[in-house]
Amino acid sequence: MSDCIFCKIANGEIPTDMVYEDDLVVAFKDVNPLTPVHVLVVPKKHYANIVDNVPAEVLAAMAHAIDVVTKQYGLDKTGFRCITNTGDDAGQSVHHFHIHILGGRKLDPEAGEGKK
Ligand code: AMP
Repeated sequence: MSDCIFCKIANGEIPTDMVYEDDLVVAFKDVNPLTPVHVLVVPKKHYANIVDNVPAEVLAAMAHAIDVVTKQYGLDKTGFRCITNTGDDAGQSVHHFHIHILGGRKLDPEAGEGKK
Protein backbone atom coordinates (compact mmCIF):
# COMPACT_ATOMS: atom_id res chain seq x y z
CA MET A 1 0.00 0.00 0.00
CA SER A 2 1.69 3.17 -1.21
CA ASP A 3 0.50 5.52 1.56
CA CYS A 4 0.99 3.11 4.48
CA ILE A 5 3.72 4.13 6.94
CA PHE A 6 4.47 0.54 8.05
CA CYS A 7 4.78 -0.58 4.40
CA LYS A 8 7.30 2.23 3.93
CA ILE A 9 9.23 1.17 7.05
CA ALA A 10 9.16 -2.49 5.98
CA ASN A 11 10.52 -1.74 2.51
CA GLY A 12 13.21 0.65 3.81
CA GLU A 13 11.68 3.88 2.46
CA ILE A 14 11.45 5.30 6.01
CA PRO A 15 14.38 4.70 8.38
CA THR A 16 13.60 3.12 11.72
CA ASP A 17 15.23 1.55 14.75
CA MET A 18 15.08 -2.02 13.42
CA VAL A 19 15.64 -4.83 15.92
CA TYR A 20 14.78 -7.88 13.77
CA GLU A 21 14.18 -8.71 10.11
CA ASP A 22 13.57 -11.83 8.05
CA ASP A 23 11.90 -12.55 4.68
CA LEU A 24 8.36 -12.04 6.01
CA VAL A 25 8.60 -9.81 9.06
CA VAL A 26 10.29 -6.75 10.52
CA ALA A 27 10.40 -5.61 14.15
CA PHE A 28 11.30 -2.07 15.19
CA LYS A 29 11.10 0.18 18.23
CA ASP A 30 7.84 2.07 18.72
CA VAL A 31 8.43 5.80 18.19
CA ASN A 32 6.28 6.57 21.26
CA PRO A 33 7.26 3.88 23.76
CA LEU A 34 4.79 3.10 26.54
CA THR A 35 7.20 0.80 28.38
CA PRO A 36 11.01 0.51 28.60
CA VAL A 37 10.84 -2.12 25.85
CA HIS A 38 8.19 -1.38 23.21
CA VAL A 39 8.73 -3.12 19.89
CA LEU A 40 6.32 -3.56 16.99
CA VAL A 41 6.33 -6.80 15.00
CA VAL A 42 5.04 -6.12 11.49
CA PRO A 43 4.54 -8.33 8.42
CA LYS A 44 6.31 -7.00 5.33
CA LYS A 45 3.15 -7.50 3.25
CA HIS A 46 0.17 -5.30 3.99
CA TYR A 47 -2.70 -6.78 6.02
CA ALA A 48 -5.14 -4.36 7.65
CA ASN A 49 -5.33 -6.31 10.91
CA ILE A 50 -5.09 -9.78 12.45
CA VAL A 51 -8.31 -10.96 10.76
CA ASP A 52 -7.37 -9.82 7.25
CA ASN A 53 -6.65 -13.33 5.92
CA VAL A 54 -3.10 -13.35 7.26
CA PRO A 55 -1.39 -16.55 6.03
CA ALA A 56 -0.35 -19.08 8.68
CA GLU A 57 3.30 -18.78 7.63
CA VAL A 58 3.22 -15.04 8.33
CA LEU A 59 1.64 -15.60 11.76
CA ALA A 60 4.32 -18.21 12.48
CA ALA A 61 7.06 -15.79 11.38
CA MET A 62 5.61 -13.14 13.70
CA ALA A 63 5.61 -15.60 16.61
CA HIS A 64 9.23 -16.46 15.80
CA ALA A 65 10.13 -12.74 15.74
CA ILE A 66 8.49 -12.30 19.15
CA ASP A 67 10.57 -15.19 20.47
CA VAL A 68 13.84 -13.72 19.11
CA VAL A 69 13.14 -10.12 20.16
CA THR A 70 11.99 -10.96 23.68
CA LYS A 71 15.11 -13.08 24.22
CA GLN A 72 17.22 -10.22 22.84
CA TYR A 73 15.87 -7.99 25.64
CA GLY A 74 15.84 -10.69 28.34
CA LEU A 75 12.05 -10.53 28.53
CA ASP A 76 11.83 -14.31 28.32
CA LYS A 77 13.04 -14.27 31.94
CA THR A 78 10.86 -11.43 33.25
CA GLY A 79 7.71 -11.63 31.16
CA PHE A 80 6.11 -9.35 28.60
CA ARG A 81 2.77 -8.56 26.98
CA CYS A 82 1.73 -8.80 23.32
CA ILE A 83 -1.16 -6.69 22.05
CA THR A 84 -2.76 -6.19 18.66
CA ASN A 85 -5.28 -3.38 18.53
CA THR A 86 -7.94 -4.08 15.92
CA GLY A 87 -10.36 -1.46 14.63
CA ASP A 88 -11.77 1.77 16.00
CA ASP A 89 -12.97 0.63 19.42
CA ALA A 90 -9.49 -0.69 20.20
CA GLY A 91 -7.93 2.55 18.97
CA GLN A 92 -5.94 1.03 16.12
CA SER A 93 -4.14 4.02 14.64
CA VAL A 94 -1.99 2.33 11.98
CA HIS A 95 -4.06 0.11 9.71
CA HIS A 96 -1.28 -2.33 8.90
CA PHE A 97 -1.35 -5.40 11.16
CA HIS A 98 1.19 -5.22 13.98
CA ILE A 99 1.81 -6.80 17.35
CA HIS A 100 3.07 -4.63 20.20
CA ILE A 101 5.66 -6.25 22.50
CA LEU A 102 5.59 -4.44 25.85
CA GLY A 103 7.95 -5.11 28.72
CA GLY A 104 10.89 -4.02 30.79
CA ARG A 105 8.82 -3.19 33.86
CA LYS A 106 5.93 -4.63 35.87
CA LEU A 107 2.77 -4.23 33.78
CA ASP A 108 -0.60 -3.48 35.33
CA PRO A 109 -2.77 -6.61 34.86
CA GLU A 110 -5.89 -4.40 34.96
CA ALA A 111 -4.73 -1.92 32.34
CA GLY A 112 -5.02 -2.35 28.61
CA GLU A 113 -1.44 -1.23 28.21
CA GLY A 114 -0.53 -0.75 24.59
CA LYS A 115 -3.10 2.00 24.47
CA LYS A 116 -2.75 5.40 26.05
P1 AMP B 1 -1.84 1.15 17.17
O1 AMP B 1 -2.37 2.39 17.82
O2 AMP B 1 -2.11 -0.10 17.92
O3 AMP B 1 -2.27 1.09 15.70
O4 AMP B 1 -0.26 1.29 17.20
C1 AMP B 1 0.47 2.04 16.29
C2 AMP B 1 1.80 2.32 16.92
O5 AMP B 1 2.70 2.73 15.91
C3 AMP B 1 1.78 3.43 17.97
O6 AMP B 1 2.21 2.90 19.23
C4 AMP B 1 2.75 4.47 17.42
O7 AMP B 1 3.53 5.07 18.42
C5 AMP B 1 3.60 3.63 16.46
N1 AMP B 1 4.19 4.36 15.36
C6 AMP B 1 3.58 5.21 14.50
N2 AMP B 1 4.46 5.65 13.58
C7 AMP B 1 5.65 5.06 13.85
C8 AMP B 1 6.94 5.11 13.26
N3 AMP B 1 7.21 5.86 12.20
N4 AMP B 1 7.93 4.37 13.82
C9 AMP B 1 7.70 3.61 14.92
N5 AMP B 1 6.48 3.51 15.50
C10 AMP B 1 5.48 4.23 14.99
